[in-house]
Amino acid sequence: MIRLNNIVDKVSAYSNITNEDLDFIKKAYVYSAKVHSGQRRVSGEPYLSHPLEVSSILTDLKLDIPSVVTGLLHDTIEDTLATREEIERLFGSEIAFLVDATTKISRLPHVSDVEKQAESFRKLILATAKDIRVVFIKLADRLHNMRTLEYLPEERQKRIAIETMEIYAPLAHRLGISWVSVELEDLAFKFSEPGEHERIFKTVSTKKKDWEKYTQEIVSLIIAKMKEFKIQGDVSWRFKHLYGIYSKMKKGNISLHNIYDILGFRIVTRTENECYQVLGAVHSLWKPIPGRIKDYIALPKANNYQSLHTAVIGPFGEQMEIQIRTEHMHRIAEYGVAAHWRYKGGRLPSNGNEKIYSNLRHLVELKDIKDSTEYIEAIKDELILDVVYVYTPNADLIEFPVDATPVDFAYSIHTDIGNHCFQAFVNRKLVPLDYKLKTGDMVEVVTSKNKTPNRQWLDFVVTPKAKNKIRSWMRQEENLRAEQVGETITQRKFAKKGLNLSNMLEKKKLDDPLAKLQFTGIKDFYRAVGFGNAAANDLLKVIHPRKFAEGVEKSKRIKNIINRISKDEYKDAVLVKRYDNILIKFGKCCNPVPGEQIIGFITRGKGITVHVYNCPRLLEVSPERRIEVAWNEEYSGRIPIGLSVKCENKKGMLSELTSMVSGLEVDIIRADVSEDNIGQGNARFDVTVENIAQLEKLIESLKNLGGVISVKRLTESSHSRASDLN
Ligand code: MN
Repeated sequence: MIRLNNIVDKVSAYSNITNEDLDFIKKAYVYSAKVHSGQRRVSGEPYLSHPLEVSSILTDLKLDIPSVVTGLLHDTIEDTLATREEIERLFGSEIAFLVDATTKISRLPHVSDVEKQAESFRKLILATAKDIRVVFIKLADRLHNMRTLEYLPEERQKRIAIETMEIYAPLAHRLGISWVSVELEDLAFKFSEPGEHERIFKTVSTKKKDWEKYTQEIVSLIIAKMKEFKIQGDVSWRFKHLYGIYSKMKKGNISLHNIYDILGFRIVTRTENECYQVLGAVHSLWKPIPGRIKDYIALPKANNYQSLHTAVIGPFGEQMEIQIRTEHMHRIAEYGVAAHWRYKGGRLPSNGNEKIYSNLRHLVELKDIKDSTEYIEAIKDELILDVVYVYTPNADLIEFPVDATPVDFAYSIHTDIGNHCFQAFVNRKLVPLDYKLKTGDMVEVVTSKNKTPNRQWLDFVVTPKAKNKIRSWMRQEENLRAEQVGETITQRKFAKKGLNLSNMLEKKKLDDPLAKLQFTGIKDFYRAVGFGNAAANDLLKVIHPRKFAEGVEKSKRIKNIINRISKDEYKDAVLVKRYDNILIKFGKCCNPVPGEQIIGFITRGKGITVHVYNCPRLLEVSPERRIEVAWNEEYSGRIPIGLSVKCENKKGMLSELTSMVSGLEVDIIRADVSEDNIGQGNARFDVTVENIAQLEKLIESLKNLGGVISVKRLTESSHSRASDLN
């Protein structure tokens, strides 16, 4: 068991410890020993070993005296008869706050119950916003609990390991405390996938000895080269951490048996300038692999990590990975926010190291998400660290998680811009809204008042903010739609019974019955009916209990109505005589648009294909299989259409074309331009239109645009005929 002396020695190594500090630590130790006396850990050790170890981890993080003292006391309120008042009286309000905050988080048992997990995490983040030391203490507590996890029952081991892997390791990583995140990951890996862990552990341990000679040779070659360049620095090598190896293996990026995949070299220099000089020196020694040089000094990672990364072809034709950084960068890489944090009462500073604190602020902002599952998902998303950097038109650099899209970009600027974005330009070229942003992209978003969020956006946005804003918009829309459906249903039902709903509402005759059913108003009732949670009959029954007692509506049926209305598929665009609910497809050969004369064709087992009346394809099929169809006049959706535009290849042509198209209230799904070998431009537009009139107007306007040579409506005539006709 670690002793108090070890802790005091460790503190003295990085700070000037006064006699008062020493007395303070001793006092906390004595108190903790007293209140925990007689208690034991599951491992059988005296309980006191745990607060001592936590305190020791806090000294590894080089934290201040109050943090170290809190480490000793962190479980006293929770597990003993000690109270906050007593702690405050003995150790002051600062310590009382820290111990209390840590206690409040852990008082909720860490069960997989997502409610409790969300609640305790919410508390942790809020307490951390008040005093950042809370998160350090919590991470130290978790780290020691993970180190001693083997003593818990297997089922609890797994649960805690998963939570550590999903939340605490990423949290440490996000805060830049990489040695803690790496150790947490490896421990969580060990308990969640013992077999895989064992396999990788064994291989790596045997390789360590075998490869001593190789690594020493490489290290001395680098040192010799650095001497030639007159640069001082340390050169070392290490194996990647076990979980890192495992996750890269799972992605198929590396092989456990290729030693070069799992080891890396590191050069630590004195100045930033020397980093670049060393990079040059290494590249003069071995050829760099194109695309593998990363300058995280000029563009630090989201957690403030800085280094130069390169991969070269080594002396034996092997691929070698090398990191180059200064001592200062190395300390940041290991300790992150804990390295910056200094004696400021724990408050987040308003200047300096902005980026890393903004990570915490992002986490704090998520507190408003009420739904626990959504909250935890949002936290997990927010903790993901792989990022891209893109520019706004004003050349501001914004950071996004990998795979972010122009819609994420729009929401990051402003909710309204997100809610109304409809076109995106990347490096001045039109891209689809689900385009994946790349580092260095310059992004511009065009909004339109008439555009609103689309459910499909949820399939591709990645930032928690965009997801939440789209969801809340959808909820609003759904409520509105449900209200409308509910109103129609209620009105019809009342009319059927000879009652005038609007009249009754005007005369306030429904206020009491609605209140009796515990609705706040008629809209609330409509919404319930629309969602199928209430029936119009419920209201009738309250008005005339005897008259309307029978005939209960099935809420399931109403749900079906909602489903039908909310499904925006264009199969509803066509009506087939005598057939309801029959599967309808559009002939890809002619791609009819509402307003055009159409005819149906009965396929074998695949419903009906709809073609333009004079589609040559119809001549190929027997007349008996034709069927009359008509456009559904109530249909208000849009039909997708492809257009090919040949134009002069001049500057600004694409934006002229797109602004013309969108000016006509036509939705552009996609636009591509290419140049052919005789210097002409070819543009391809995928748009959706309401009817043939709109399409004809569009084609006409495009043809009249200066520089346009020809416009053609695209049909997929190359599409396999047989499959379409059978
Ligand atoms: Mn504890």
